[in-house]
Parts: sequence; C-alpha cells; structure tokens
Amino acid sequence: MRVNEIFYSLQGEGRFTGTPVVFLRLSGCNLKCSFCDTKHEEAVEMHPTEIIEEIQKYPSKHIVITGGEPSLQIDWDFVNYLQQYGYFVQVETNGVKRLPTNVDWITCSPKYKPICYGEVDEIKCVYEGKESEEKIHKLYRSVRAESFYLQPCDVKNPKRNAEILAECINFIKENPEWKLSLQTQKILEVR
Ligand code: SF4
Repeated sequence: MRVNEIFYSLQGEGRFTGTPVVFLRLSGCNLKCSFCDTKHEEAVEMHPTEIIEEIQKYPSKHIVITGGEPSLQIDWDFVNYLQQYGYFVQVETNGVKRLPTNVDWITCSPKYKPICYGEVDEIKCVYEGKESEEKIHKLYRSVRAESFYLQPCDVKNPKRNAEILAECINFIKENPEWKLSLQTQKILEVR
C-alpha cells in the first residue's frame, strides 16, 4: 500500500469534527484538482501489518483513510483487518470509484466528476463561489446522505477566501439542508 503519511490529530471537518482520529493518508488519485493539498509523489510502500503497528501507537480507535483516493488501494480484507483490531473505519473519497462495502462511514467529497453512489453517510462539498451553486443543487438532488456539508474553498487568497465564505454562508441560509464545515485544523493551525 502506498502511504503518504500516518499521523494523529483531531478530525477537522464534517460530522466528526473535534474527534481524535488516526489519519492514514494514501498516495495517488484518479483526479487532478487545482486546490489539492496532497503531495502525491511522496509515498512509502507499507504492508497492512506495518500500518497496524504504526496506528496502534495512538489511543484512538477511529481511523480516517484519506488521500489521494483510497478507493484505488483499499479492499474489503484491509478494512476487515482494521475492524478486527477494533477500529471504526471512516474513508474520505471523491466518489468516482466504489469503496469496499464494509467501510463504517463514507465521507464523499465530490469534485468535478459524477459520483457512483446513490447514498453515502455524509457529503462534503467544496464551495468555490456562486458559479458552483447549480452543481451543488444537482448534487443534493442526486444523492442521499445523513448530512450535507459545504466547505468554503481555500484559494490561498485571503480577500477571495473571505468573499467565498460570505457567499457560502448566504447560500446555506437560503438552502438549510446544507451545513457549514470549516477546515478547523487550518484555522487552529493544528495537524
Ligand atoms: S480528489 Fe482529492 S486527492 Fe484527488 S486531486 Fe482532488 S483534492 Fe486531490
């Protein structure tokens, strides 16, 4: 398995915000988003036994597999292996390719490609400005989820970021099926 990094922190986004979790970030993705934070070229090959050994150094039994795109690498046996050690397995996916059916919690963060799911646990959608609102409405109509989160896009420009946040808040006030999700790990400057 090509691993970008393993680290322990608080989940900064979505339903489990504030929960201590072990992050397993895998390398490689099937999309190329302009705002991607992952350095996909950095990877270490790790066997599942080495991954278990590493994640057990931390007290939390909640693991978040993120990317890159986890659906390119994880399978039913790997998820089951983690669950046998008592882990609650949350996976963050762009939704283009299906995940193993035994994942405990699917956080789908669709990008500019259609997703292959009719139902997930939570949707976390990047709000890029008013031009993305039609796409967001369509997404809401096409998939079921327990919670729908909008996350203002960080375009690395403080002035534009402030405008995007204000537009996002207005959109949510007019469309209360959505909730705001901030990248609290960036705001608090924690990993
Ligand atoms: S889907 Fe996610 S990991 Fe893949 S390129 Fe886009 S932001 Fe990066």
